[in-house]
Amino acid sequence: MIFVISGPSGVGKSTIIKNLERQDELYFSISYTTRPIRNDESEGIDYYYISENQFNEMIDQEKFVEYEEYGGYMYGTARSELSKLSSYSALVLDLEVNGATNILKEYENSVGIFIDINNIELKNRLKSRGHKDGTFINTRINLADKQRDQKGQFEYYILNEEINTTVNEINDIIYNSIS
Ligand code: 5GP
Repeated sequence: MIFVISGPSGVGKSTIIKNLERQDELYFSISYTTRPIRNDESEGIDYYYISENQFNEMIDQEKFVEYEEYGGYMYGTARSELSKLSSYSALVLDLEVNGATNILKEYENSVGIFIDINNIELKNRLKSRGHKDGTFINTRINLADKQRDQKGQFEYYILNEEINTTVNEINDIIYNSIS
């Protein structure tokens, strides 16, 4: 089973995924990206950080099951990560909405979980991340509205009002599907 977790940027997706229960039968896929590493991240844990040339080479060699450009950087899921399904009961993928819907269409054994928050909260979170520019915030809100148009393709829709509740809900979804 492949759990695809997605939703607009700023909804708290990465914090939620970091807090999901690490069960032995569950593998958390590690994507490749051309984005520079952040201070609190580690190579091979959060992502594999590669150059644009290396990323393009991987595209040419058809090493990705899906890849997308996001915020000026490339992100992709390697076939080798999906093949881990032979050793685990389930995989968890953290993908932006286009990549997520592609995987959901292509893989019958995939389950989509769309995480959202309302636009007032989203605005507050973007501001608290240091984004003061009104144009940037409006662009992100418009993008979030577009991304929500795809939410019908996801089996689960979760409003992230309280992080622990959201984490518990997703833990339950995963646990009930693989047990
Ligand atoms: P960030 O740069 O904040 O870590 O991630 C930006 C966005 O890229 C997030 O929405 C995340 O879900 C998405 N993302 C991370 N890895 C992949 C991937 O392999 N494929 C796709 N399509 N999106 C990804």
